[in-house]
Amino acid sequence: MEHAIEADGLVKTYGKGAKAVRALSGVGFAVPRGTVFGLLGPNGAGKSTTTKILTTLSTPDSGTAVVAGLDVAKEPGRVRHAIGYVPQRPCFDPTATGRENLTLQGHVYGLPRADIRSRGDQLLERFGLAEAANRITKTWSGGMQRKLDVALALMHRPQVLFLDEPTTGLDPEARADMWAEISGVTRADGVTVLLTTHYLEEADQLADRLVIIDRGQVVAEGTPEELKGGLDGDTVQVELADPGQQAAARRAIDTVHGVGDVGVDGARLHARVGNGAATLPGLLAALEGAGVPLASVTVARPSLDDVYLRHAGRSFHSADRAGLTDRAATEVAA
Ligand code: ADP
Repeated sequence: MEHAIEADGLVKTYGKGAKAVRALSGVGFAVPRGTVFGLLGPNGAGKSTTTKILTTLSTPDSGTAVVAGLDVAKEPGRVRHAIGYVPQRPCFDPTATGRENLTLQGHVYGLPRADIRSRGDQLLERFGLAEAANRITKTWSGGMQRKLDVALALMHRPQVLFLDEPTTGLDPEARADMWAEISGVTRADGVTVLLTTHYLEEADQLADRLVIIDRGQVVAEGTPEELKGGLDGDTVQVELADPGQQAAARRAIDTVHGVGDVGVDGARLHARVGNGAATLPGLLAALEGAGVPLASVTVARPSLDDVYLRHAGRSFHSADRAGLTDRAATEVAA
C-alpha cells in the first residue's frame, strides 16, 4: 500500500433547501505512508468535514475514501481500529490521572492487560509526562493535556493519526513542543499523520506535503517548497498609517510598473513584485506623491499566505475571519 489515505471526489452538504450549506465540492488527495500531510485552509473551508468523513464520523453525499487500505463506507469498524483521532476539544477525563486515562483507553481498545501497562509507560515517557503520570490531569498545563490527547490516540498503535487543529489555544512554547512531538510520531513509529490547521506557519513547518482547501475545494497541492517555489518574485506589504486612505493607496500602487496581485486587508496592502529591491523606491515614491503616510513596509520571499492568495484570490487572514462569521450564521440557521 503506497498511500495511507486516498480521498476522491468527496461532496458533503449540510441541511436542506434554502438553508443547505455545501461544505465539500469534490475534495480529493492522496497521503503517502509515513508522512505528515497538512490540510490547510481558513475557517469554514471544509477541513473538519473532510476529517470527519475519513474518521467514519460522517458520511459523504458522494465520493470515496480509503484509509489504511480500508474503504471507510464499507468497513468503518476496521477503519476505527486502524486510526487514532485527536479532535479539537480535549478527550481525556480531567478527574482521572494521566496513567488512569491511558489504562482506560487501553481497555476500550481491548489491549491485553500486560500490554496496557507497558504501552502506557512508554507513551508517558515518550511525551515527557512520566513525572506527572499519577496526578489528576485537570491540574496539568494546557500543553501537557494536549500531549495526553495525542498519547491516548496512539495507545492502540494506529497506522494513521488524525490531528484536528492540534495547537489551537496553546502558547508559543507549548506549540513548538507539540510540533516536535508530531514530527516524532512519523519518525519514530512510521505513523502517517493527517493534520488540519489554519496556521500557515504550522503547515509550512510540519507538513511534508499539503493541500490548501478553500470553500470546499482543493485549490493547491504539493510540498511547502514546491508551492512557494511556484510563485516568482517577492511580496511587498504596506501598512497604512491611516486605514481611511486605502483607496488612494491602492490607486497609487496600481500606477507602479511591475506590481501585480494587489490586495487589501484592512490597513494593509500587499502586492507581488518581480524584484522587491528594484521596485520598492518607485512604489514608495508613488505613495508619497499621493500623500499617503505609511506605518511600515516589508519585502519578503513568497509564503504560503501568498500561495493561498494566488489560488483563492483573497488573503488567508481575511478568508479566515469571513469563515468565522459564516459559521456563526450557519450555526444559527442550523
Ligand atoms: P473548517 O474545519 O475548515 O473550519 P468545516 O468543515 O467545519 O470547516 O465547515 C465547512 C462548512 O460547513 C462551513 O460553512 C460550516 O459553517 C459548515 N458546517 C459545518 N458543520 C456544519 C453543521 N453541522 N451544520 C451546518 N453547517 C455546517
